[in-house]
Amino acid sequence: MKDVPGTAPEEQLLVALARLGQALRISSYRNAGPYRLSPLQADIVSTLAGHPHQRRLGELTDALASSPPTISDAVKTLAAKELVERQRDASDARAVTLTLTAAGRTEAERLVHMPDEFAEALAALSPNDMAAMLRGVSAMIKSLQDRKVIPVSRMCLTCTYFHPDAHPRTDKPHHCGFVDNPFDDAELRLDCPDHMSS
Ligand code: SF4
Repeated sequence: MKDVPGTAPEEQLLVALARLGQALRISSYRNAGPYRLSPLQADIVSTLAGHPHQRRLGELTDALASSPPTISDAVKTLAAKELVERQRDASDARAVTLTLTAAGRTEAERLVHMPDEFAEALAALSPNDMAAMLRGVSAMIKSLQDRKVIPVSRMCLTCTYFHPDAHPRTDKPHHCGFVDNPFDDAELRLDCPDHMSS
């Protein structure tokens, strides 16, 4: 019997992740909405919505792993569309802080809704496959964050409150100290508002 031809599974997985990233970008262009948002502009609106307090321009640049001129240009466009307001930071005259306008918050709510094609693709996954994928991508993202390839995100694996395998041999092996509850791989968070850096 001959082996199945092909490259290493690691390479196949990277191809698959790249394809998913491509699908997300295409979906983002199709979902530009009434303000014709580019994928970066949509990311900025979504990122600001996830942070109830004002954010500095520099923090946004770090969070989105972009460059100051690129973010600055996108923010100018969002301000012209009246989705974002820029103010001088009260504690540092050189810094600019950003907040969403009411229209920006409405746009952020629209962006929260998952495109139908992704909802259908995810609905086809079994609970076990969903948990395995979340576990796998969380571990990959943490490794890339540790190597400073991507910015730190508010994920369970980097959270003070996260106690992995605190309840071994149960169907909810991990524990979140913030809500004081056990949870399983399928509930791992990759962007949690209650995250505290460890
Ligand atoms: S607070 Fe959020 S990020 Fe931290 S362990 Fe709990 S669910 Fe995970």
